[in-house]
Amino acid sequence: MRLKLTDGLTIKDSPIDGKGCFATRFFPRGRKIAEYEGERITSRESRRRAGRRKLRICDVDEHWSIDGSRGGNGTHYMNHSCQPNCYMKILYGHVLFFALRDIHPGEEITLDYIITLHSDKKRCTCGAPNCRGTINKVTRTVFSS
Ligand SMILES: [Zn+2]
Repeated sequence: MRLKLTDGLTIKDSPIDGKGCFATRFFPRGRKIAEYEGERITSRESRRRAGRRKLRICDVDEHWSIDGSRGGNGTHYMNHSCQPNCYMKILYGHVLFFALRDIHPGEEITLDYIITLHSDKKRCTCGAPNCRGTINKVTRTVFSS
């Protein structure tokens, strides 16, 4: 299946993990980068799919999640970093990514996942100087819009 990539992004091998999402143009700080697209599924279905090794599921709220591995636009390749250059915001049921700082063409776009369906013991390999060592933040925080 051909991936319909969102404008300004490309998928390449990442030094962090597998493939990553890279900027093909300049995104000034605060600019919207993309929307997370994919199949809209229930939280129950998302827990059922959580057994897969590569997680491409993003929670929208307590009822709904989006599985980017089906019908995604490339943003589901975004890797986690403890020192990210992008953040996620949920607005009216849409998951949007914004530049946390200026992002230049060729830079990998990274996000602090904060909470995932991964185990809290899942190690982080982002390489940031302030890497916390695990992908999940152990104190649970919930995204709010
Ligand atoms: Zn890290």
